[in-house]
Amino acid sequence: MRSFLDSDIMYLKGVGEKRAKLLAEELDLRTFRDLLYYFPFRHIDRSRFYKIREFTGDMPLVQIRGRFISFAVEGEGAKKRLLGLFSDGERLIQTVWFSRVNALKDAYRTGVDYVLFGKPTPYRGDFNMVHPEVSAYNLDNPPRGFEGVYNITEKIRKAGYSPKFIGTLVRNLLTNPGFAGIRETLPPEVVSAFRLMPLQDALRNMHFPENPAMLQKARERMKFEELFYLQLHILRFSRARSRKIQGMVFPRIGDYFNGYYADCIPFELTGAQKRVLREIRADMRTGRQMNRLLQGDVGSGKTMVAFMSMLMACDNGCQGALMAPTEILATQHYETLSEWGRQIGINVRLLTGSTRAKERREIHAGLLDGSIHIIVGTHALIEDAVQFHRLGLVVIDEQHRFGVAQRAKMWGKNSTPPHVLVMTATPIPRTLAMTVYGDLDVSVIDELPPGRKPVETLLRFDENRMEVNRLLGRELAAGRQVYVVYPLITENPKLELKSVESGYERICGIFPQYKVSCVHGRMKPDVKEAQMQRFVSGEARILVATTVIEVGVNVPNASVMLIENAERFGLSQLHQLRGRVGRGSDRSYCILVTKQAIGGDTRKRLNIMTETSDGFLISEADMKLRGPGDMEGTQQSGIAFALNVANLATDGQILNYARRAALQILNAHPELVETPGDDGDRSEGELHISQQSVDTLRNELRYRFMKTVDWSQIS
Ligand code: ADP
Ligand code: MG
Repeated sequence: MRSFLDSDIMYLKGVGEKRAKLLAEELDLRTFRDLLYYFPFRHIDRSRFYKIREFTGDMPLVQIRGRFISFAVEGEGAKKRLLGLFSDGERLIQTVWFSRVNALKDAYRTGVDYVLFGKPTPYRGDFNMVHPEVSAYNLDNPPRGFEGVYNITEKIRKAGYSPKFIGTLVRNLLTNPGFAGIRETLPPEVVSAFRLMPLQDALRNMHFPENPAMLQKARERMKFEELFYLQLHILRFSRARSRKIQGMVFPRIGDYFNGYYADCIPFELTGAQKRVLREIRADMRTGRQMNRLLQGDVGSGKTMVAFMSMLMACDNGCQGALMAPTEILATQHYETLSEWGRQIGINVRLLTGSTRAKERREIHAGLLDGSIHIIVGTHALIEDAVQFHRLGLVVIDEQHRFGVAQRAKMWGKNSTPPHVLVMTATPIPRTLAMTVYGDLDVSVIDELPPGRKPVETLLRFDENRMEVNRLLGRELAAGRQVYVVYPLITENPKLELKSVESGYERICGIFPQYKVSCVHGRMKPDVKEAQMQRFVSGEARILVATTVIEVGVNVPNASVMLIENAERFGLSQLHQLRGRVGRGSDRSYCILVTKQAIGGDTRKRLNIMTETSDGFLISEADMKLRGPGDMEGTQQSGIAFALNVANLATDGQILNYARRAALQILNAHPELVETPGDDGDRSEGELHISQQSVDTLRNELRYRFMKTVDWSQIS
């Protein structure tokens, strides 16, 4: 059967040599399979007339029948538009045209029967239609069916083909006798367990749906299939790896951990911190190497979890290393950990690019003979000269600044690879984590230490400058510190955005009595560090910066985060910035400033910030608005995958089912994993499939992921 799907598209009825070349070059369609899986990007339903009351969130293009009640022209110049109010006899809908306003106004009449054809778009809690096609209604309009619209390129258009041409070819393919013989790509057990539409029906309905409900079922099936194989692929390799790689075993909880916990810990751990420590503890005693992603909102107390996990290593005669992306962060961690460690005789040292040669040699020696228990540092830790007596745990803070390769390098420092804990304050939505980090275990600290006052978040406009400056003045006078963040380094007249450079001058002018630091990405690292340090030490009271300050720095005395042109930032980024304040127990503020005239969507986005401080909600919303491709962390995961039909932002539910199916099958059929052995996480139960189905899975996996990833590189 493979031969049918793999046939050269040239041999399809209606193609031939010349068109085959065009299809291959322009759309990358080379085989029957390519064409079959080239789905319409949208559908139009001319099979019947819809009623306005039937409109729902995501509609194909549809037609409605009725009359215009009235017309109005609004706006001037480029903003001039024609509004029409259209009635289908039951309800009204607004229509809008932004071009050819005068001509259309004269062409359309009220009180005449028309057919409108367009996409119902949600608008202000209702629907409207932008640029609908308007045609006279007459009784012998034949119904035209429900069909897909295909993307084509300019060159194909110029060669004389419309999107319909693709549809015609697909139809030729679907009626080819070979099509009836193509095999189901999912095990029949899965198709029936999850009530999926069979493959052939799904393919047919993706292109030529019988009705909207069938299209929906077809899409679900195709999305499921895509996500199922992706999950199977990821889980299979993570199991294979955890079997292959012998981890260090830490059987004991000893004096360091117990002593610290009983006598020295400065606060009661939150429930979430305790739970995560138990999860880490469980990993470390199994003999498998821990690869855990620790997600916790800013201020949730990840550092203490990291410290106590390193104590587990120390209790078993091993060392811990904590890597931070910048020197300032590393220094702050060092100060914290050495203070905590001192009370129980844990020797903590700091190694960065600016550590002097003599001290560096001393540290190298101490790491090698084991007298240093915990090392904190930057990239300097990765250098080959840094060798350990017995490295048991590597903690990586703010992971997205470290590449996969660097992580892997830390492993090489032992014959048995150390356990790895990656900490991030950029909460990754569950659906994304399950896919991108499907091979890492994920722990979440979903609880803040008690007594934290949420940061008061205000949306203000250029017109409110005086009020904003008064607030800043009040906080500064009370001895507090202030961040001011700009989207740009240098002014750009075209963009009308505020910049660090002019902002610095302005701030110095308004608050001449305070020292102001300035930091941006184009500065030399040592200048940047020095400016930062001036603010950390409290000498400078105001820090003017671009988003370079986003990550982890802790200045508890800072009480205001002012963000200019807030509309330019992603929500997750705003959340990170906001996390820089509110670290003490006093009231603190995040002020988002924009110009008065912002669009409804922008306002909605920024209102999410004023309404919630929950990083997970914010990152889910962000992903829905921007799509998962832009999310921080996805580039670095090292797992290459492209989704054809599924969308991580909106298909979380299907992803859950797909993952469950993949887990159940792996539990029942460990032979799918290359090196069967221990049995890992069986909590999802089992789903038994026939030997033939196991072969189907093997073939599909090979076919789909043959060329993608080098898994040996992923930690
Ligand atoms: P993040 O998760 O952003 O790295 P930190 O580890 O820097 O957060 O913790 C933020 C602050 O909260 C620190 O001052 C830390 O000492 C404090 N903290 C952490 N855990 C607790 C707790 N359980 N109770 C009270 N304060 C805590
Ligand atoms: Mg931190």
